[in-house]
Amino acid sequence: MKIQCPTGVHHSIEEAKACQHCIEFLTRPILHSLLEKTPRTKTEHERPRYGVGTVTGLCLRQAYYKMTEEEILDLEKLWVFSRGHALHEFVSKSLPKHEKEVFVQKEFSHFDIIGFIDALHNNVIYEFKTTANIPATPQSHHMLQAQGYFSLLDEKIQKEIEKIKIVYLSLSKIKAYEVQQRDITHFMEGRAAILTQSLKVKTPPKREVSWLCKYCEFNDMCFNRDKTLD
Ligand code: SF4
Repeated sequence: MKIQCPTGVHHSIEEAKACQHCIEFLTRPILHSLLEKTPRTKTEHERPRYGVGTVTGLCLRQAYYKMTEEEILDLEKLWVFSRGHALHEFVSKSLPKHEKEVFVQKEFSHFDIIGFIDALHNNVIYEFKTTANIPATPQSHHMLQAQGYFSLLDEKIQKEIEKIKIVYLSLSKIKAYEVQQRDITHFMEGRAAILTQSLKVKTPPKREVSWLCKYCEFNDMCFNRDKTLD
């Protein structure tokens, strides 16, 4: 992962920590705190494994780029991610360890799909989403993500689940929505198969154009570098 300095230069974590422009932008204590947790070492696995968020996201092409291109975070995005992470920890800190970040996994013939449920408490699945503005209805890909976690549970535990809730957290408000319990295993399997094939032939999947394109960090790559691929 690289950090994009306000000057446009791409730094390693250590370079960013010492960069005067980055320090000036975030101040030294904040910059160093945010950079403390950032390096995520990717563990190699024998088979492809995809997160629930990857296969239920709005665009598989974006997921492909995230897996094949180096991640570059500008300082504002670094702040947004770190703030979201801190808020997740804060709202689940009263729960016992086995009820938060609950690991779920399902094996398919050529890949695995995995996930971490934010909280699983009293037979309710909770998915926390930090946001600037609370939506009037839950977003479709957030619903799919929460249903995706439900789908990966063992059948016995799935039967015990009473509710799935998406909880939106903004700096001033909290709003919880209940989501229908639905097994979307086949949907996720189909999406994961497309991604597996794309990675195998080193060609991005089809574009899935939506409102997300405007904010997508790979927009230029998608519509210019790879413009001949639909
Ligand atoms: S620009 Fe749009 S279609 Fe292209 S990868 Fe990003 S989200 Fe997908």
